[in-house]
Amino acid sequence: MRILILGGTTEASALAARLAGRSDVSPLLSMAGRTSDPRPMPIPTRIGGFGGVAGLAAFLRKESIEAVIDATHPFAAVMSRNAAEACALDQVPLLALRRPAWTAQAGDRWIDVPSMQAAVQALGESPRRVFLTVGRLELAPFAAAPQHTYLVRTIEPIGDALPVAGVIAVQDRAPFHEDAERVLMERERVDVVVTKNSGGSATYPKIAAARSLGLSVVMVARPDKPQGVDEVASADAALDWLENLHGRAP
Ligand code: NAP
Repeated sequence: MRILILGGTTEASALAARLAGRSDVSPLLSMAGRTSDPRPMPIPTRIGGFGGVAGLAAFLRKESIEAVIDATHPFAAVMSRNAAEACALDQVPLLALRRPAWTAQAGDRWIDVPSMQAAVQALGESPRRVFLTVGRLELAPFAAAPQHTYLVRTIEPIGDALPVAGVIAVQDRAPFHEDAERVLMERERVDVVVTKNSGGSATYPKIAAARSLGLSVVMVARPDKPQGVDEVASADAALDWLENLHGRAP
């Protein structure tokens, strides 16, 4: 079975690892190409956009794809929408592999907001020391609030993505650890954290560290994903779905 995995996440990598070396499937992992030095993957990989819905639909046909697993990040809304539309065109089975959102626990001081613009507003007028962990491509709205001091952590260098004075830029990639997160936040005298509600364990330590330090967390809600798509939360469950599909194949 020829399978396309839309990746860029820990879940996609986990699924790729499970499918590697199997003789009954021929998986292909697709990455957007946002990271200049992606981790090596154990299955064939292609990099770069498809060219919208039409481009993806043409790709599915050309590559004789029999199933698509949308394992993109919960905030990658455009790719998920394109996948739903392209798969619907030729009735290619589609599964979403998506980690559950984080939910607040006792002791958490979350300020829930619907968008990055709302996160900027939630920081308020008074200067604060803000730990921004929203990804390089989401930094621009914070330029509207130059009164704050930003500690920005990204995988790639931020370049001129946040043109305000006094930015402290750190380059690092998950997984992170709670103790180190606490040390970083204390050292930089952070008083509020801004994050997307990405879910998963790899970046959760910043949430736990903020809780233990009594810090506020501005939590940006997930964008809507397409309705009516089968959804699972683990690579194992995605494998079960594929087995099922395989069983039904002529
Ligand atoms: P997006 O806004 O949903 O997608 C924008 C465009 O990027 C898509 O229309 C598509 O281009 C291309 N694209 C996205 N994912 C792709 C994939 N797996 N393979 C090939 N092309 C892809 O996505 P995004 O938020 O920029 O995220 C880009 C990638 O980074 C995704 O793979 C996602 O899983 C990963 N990621 C995102 C975040 C985040 O916070 N957004 C965090 C961690 C990882 P075409 O229209 O040309 O096909």
